Amino acid sequence: MCGVFGVWGVPEASRITYLGLHGLQHRGQESAGIVTARGDQLYSFKRMGRVADVFNESALDALPGTVAIGHVRYSTQGMSIVKNAQPFAVEFAGTSLAIAHNGNLTNAGELRAELEAAGSLFHTTMDTEVFVHLLARAKGTLVDRLQKVLPRVRGAYSLLILTPDQMVAVRDPHGFRPLIVGRAPSGGPVFASESSALRLVEAVAEREVEPGEIVRVDADGETSHRVGASLPQPHQCIFEHIYFARPDSQIFGARVYEVRKAIGRRLAREEPVADADVVIPVPDSGTAAALGYAQEAGVPYEMGLIRSHYAGRTFIEPSSSIRHFGVKLKLSPVEHVIRDRVVVVVDDSIVRGTTSRKIVRMLREAGAKAVHMRIACPPTKNSCFYGIDTPTTAELIASTHSVDAIADFLDADSLAYLSIDGLHDSVTGRPGFCDACFTGNYPVPVPQVRFEGRLTERD
Ligand code: 5GP
Ligand code: MG
Repeated sequence: MCGVFGVWGVPEASRITYLGLHGLQHRGQESAGIVTARGDQLYSFKRMGRVADVFNESALDALPGTVAIGHVRYSTQGMSIVKNAQPFAVEFAGTSLAIAHNGNLTNAGELRAELEAAGSLFHTTMDTEVFVHLLARAKGTLVDRLQKVLPRVRGAYSLLILTPDQMVAVRDPHGFRPLIVGRAPSGGPVFASESSALRLVEAVAEREVEPGEIVRVDADGETSHRVGASLPQPHQCIFEHIYFARPDSQIFGARVYEVRKAIGRRLAREEPVADADVVIPVPDSGTAAALGYAQEAGVPYEMGLIRSHYAGRTFIEPSSSIRHFGVKLKLSPVEHVIRDRVVVVVDDSIVRGTTSRKIVRMLREAGAKAVHMRIACPPTKNSCFYGIDTPTTAELIASTHSVDAIADFLDADSLAYLSIDGLHDSVTGRPGFCDACFTGNYPVPVPQVRFEGRLTERD
């Protein structure tokens, strides 16, 4: 997962992009970068870390111009190292080009092998670099080149590309990842993965970049082009609604917060808990669904777990062992809300089950009479190859364990998930979703070989 942001024709484009990236920080915390254009030059700055730590005044001052693209990264392909940070900038065909990518290509391995056999030298281990080599080998304008090469590229891509005199936004024909266009107060277009980034820069959302659309911006204005034929139905990532997107965003034509509440209401109807005293969320990802559950069930909603927003990536563990140390940094029970109560705890999803197990233990230690876990999506059984970093199926607890066995592992009094129909019924907006993580129905063939040569579990 990643987030992309771009602005055209605004004063202080680097600072506006810095703010926009803040509004997308939840989509990637590993690295952040901004590339601006002025004259016939591109200016780039990227580092490992979060937006606020990566940039300071002098870094932003060194990014001149009224045009910029930016990226926050959560690695799916390629290692988490600064060389793989984005936007990725190169020189080719006598000009400079920078690219920011949210998504994951499923045939990057094959394309890369083919390009290397033909003499291309790759600088990174990112699938994104494949675009650059393909574009460099094609002929014509940037849009011509994109129209020639994109039909060969499979998988998920929401892209922003910047050259000194134009910006291009592209969304793959399946529309796996969100990408919207808004309008800055200055009148210039703003592109962002989610609307959460627009509010911060006082831009107004206008529309989504359509699946399979190329939007090109230059000094003369905006034009729209197609990448191949349109598909009858897109395959928008349903997990964006469940977990990834920010609840104050609108994606795929629906309000994420409302979708999550509808999911919670449906879950309450499908999987009620008799004698429940209190419904609590696992914050923040379970909050909206838990609220919907509590409202539908008519059971009091309480914040029984408080999340620390200051738990960083690195911390010093005491040398004498403290049980479940990692989760204690992040979550802490409000004991009097839990004690002697039958607790329904709602979370968005279970991946490995290791955190959920610690949460159940924490609630028991806080004195819960019973702990019933409710999950706002079906069991996550299959890895994602379209841009969400789900672990291999071997690590996905639901791929190797029944719901009852997971309940035993978690030590929950009961465990229940939302049904797949319940999920689809709860999601509004533009129809057409990818639900492969639950159903295994992959709309684009999944790769046989991963980039670094690792064989995936799906061969
Ligand atoms: P688990 O019990 O599987 O260890 O952890 C469940 C938690 O992982 C849930 O609260 C959920 O919000 C979170 N989660 C779900 N999907 C992802 C993901 O793709 N990346 C990360 N970092 N966390 C996730
Ligand atoms: Mg969570």
